[in-house]
Amino acid sequence: MTSLILGIDFGGSKNTVGLVKNDSKRLLDNRRQKSAPNASAQSDLDSVLEMSRELLALYPGRLRAVGVSFGGPVDYQNGTVKLSYHVSGWEEYPLKDQLQKEFGVPVSVDNDANAGALGEWYFGAGGKCSSLFYITVSTGIGGGWVLNGSPYRGANSLAGEIGHMVVAPTGPICVCGKRGCLEALASGTAISYHAVARMKTESGTGTTLRHLCDNNLEFITSELVSYAAKEGDELAKELLLDAARFLGIGIAQVLLLMNPERIVLGGGVTKAGKFYWDEVYRSILEHVLPGISIDVVQAQLIDEAPLWGAIALANQLLLK
Ligand SMILES: [Zn+2]
Repeated sequence: MTSLILGIDFGGSKNTVGLVKNDSKRLLDNRRQKSAPNASAQSDLDSVLEMSRELLALYPGRLRAVGVSFGGPVDYQNGTVKLSYHVSGWEEYPLKDQLQKEFGVPVSVDNDANAGALGEWYFGAGGKCSSLFYITVSTGIGGGWVLNGSPYRGANSLAGEIGHMVVAPTGPICVCGKRGCLEALASGTAISYHAVARMKTESGTGTTLRHLCDNNLEFITSELVSYAAKEGDELAKELLLDAARFLGIGIAQVLLLMNPERIVLGGGVTKAGKFYWDEVYRSILEHVLPGISIDVVQAQLIDEAPLWGAIALANQLLLK
């Protein structure tokens, strides 16, 4: 009988379920559903279970394990979700126990940064190297370690929190309350925030950007800033170069501390273009010691990294 593995990604704004045959690198099938605007933990869970049952009914076989990526902090040891920043009702939710009862097979639950790191290591740009650090730069900035094939989670499941590494002690205040975190300087949210602030005080700047948002600064996003930079907007380019420089400082600290073999860099902001990547490299070089190898590669799985990470988590359960 075919062995099946189920991967689940609770993404905050959308949930995805994917089914693979044991050890396959191709999805048999998947289902995706956007969270309702007033979604709760229960409605997300109901939607995921419904999609899972639908897939399992379509593909006969024996389900062996379930892996879960969750977009928020998770206590990996007991598989409890600590909370979600997007959906209510997840506080201290025993997700692993609940899913084990539902499916009757072993379940592994981790946060999306750790899952993304494992997904890239196992199925994507990681190339199964011995030490990998994964960084995703989108609305926020997350990171995760894979050391010798296993996620390294740290004493409190908080290892890899590069978004809250302080790279400018007198910099802007971060969502976490500290000053000068990388997330407050280089995330998509930070880029759009700084774009709006500059355009409010400097009337002659950001001509293309102003045109793109029809002079309505509320509509400025980091994607729009990226697009404006490609169209030659000087302010947009300057903001992205600043963000890239700070990201390079953050990555340099990671390299100095752990000397990983490879850094996998992904997330919407990193699609800004060659000038952005060149500045990240330049800044890393400026801030590391000579002799440290700098192997920074683009993530391959893009938005699918957490789902593939969930599948890799399930695979790891079967190896134990
Ligand atoms: Zn912070």
